[in-house]
Amino acid sequence: MRALLLFRLDLSGASPLEGSIHPVDPREPIIRATDLGVNRGDGVFETAVVRGGRPQALEAHLTRFERSAALMELPAPRRELWRTAVLRAAAAASTPGLLEEGEIASIKFVMTRGDEYDAAGPTGWVLGFAGSDPSAVRMSGIRVVVLDRGYRHDVMQTSPWLLQGAKSLAYAVNQAALREAARRGADDVVFVTGDGFVLEGPRSTLIARIGGELVTPPAELGVLPGTTQADAFAGITDVPTRIGVLLRDDLERADALWLCSSTRGAVPVRQLDGAERLIDHALTARMNAVLDARED
Ligand code: PLP
Repeated sequence: MRALLLFRLDLSGASPLEGSIHPVDPREPIIRATDLGVNRGDGVFETAVVRGGRPQALEAHLTRFERSAALMELPAPRRELWRTAVLRAAAAASTPGLLEEGEIASIKFVMTRGDEYDAAGPTGWVLGFAGSDPSAVRMSGIRVVVLDRGYRHDVMQTSPWLLQGAKSLAYAVNQAALREAARRGADDVVFVTGDGFVLEGPRSTLIARIGGELVTPPAELGVLPGTTQADAFAGITDVPTRIGVLLRDDLERADALWLCSSTRGAVPVRQLDGAERLIDHALTARMNAVLDARED
């Protein structure tokens, strides 16, 4: 990942929209050591990929940003301001010559609860960055291990303070799970609940094909509603799709599995807990064609 550009946002509401977006050098610091986003992971974020100079699925990302903020009792984001800043960042990140061979641009936008010691309100920024083109991994597939997230399936209802289903900045657990996957010789993770319900990846949504249907776990289990999975389901009209509960054994029964995310699209699973899995290259390519072509 390589930073391309950065906008600091004034979220006080004091300035008009145009005056609230400040381009800054992405190498310069814009956040204080006393910011709750830094100190406690107390904030929300989204990442949208840029195609043709525009952020894909922007409205869905903005809606999920608002949902995460509401789950964390943060002030509601000023949607128009965030939309304008992300659109501008996507256009700027697409300036010819900025990206190197094999890179694609993405936009990450972040809102923290703000400074712990002064009540100035949330801190916000929009970062344009270059990541690697996912074409190769979409072909090769990934090795995945199943890890226990340690919560029950009903944790969102019983313990909303655990913030399952919010895209919060607190990703240290997700990062640790990816390191555990690497220790086990794998590339990625599918989380299951302590009582055996399939959830999601640390940075992705799971789709399983079972009995001719494409199935993904419901948000009520405490997973993020995936924008990529939603658009894949909307675009593949000749295969039945369903949001439904999957149990751990269903992963063995599935004849194809994918992990979906904005920056990589639909990536097929080629190995699950050490066992080889078949990749449906044709359907993977069709899903990614749909995803690459999507707009706001
Ligand atoms: N689940 C988690 C925990 C994620 O972090 C992400 C994306 O980063 C996703 C699912 C996939 O979401 P999307 O397809 O909207 O990128």
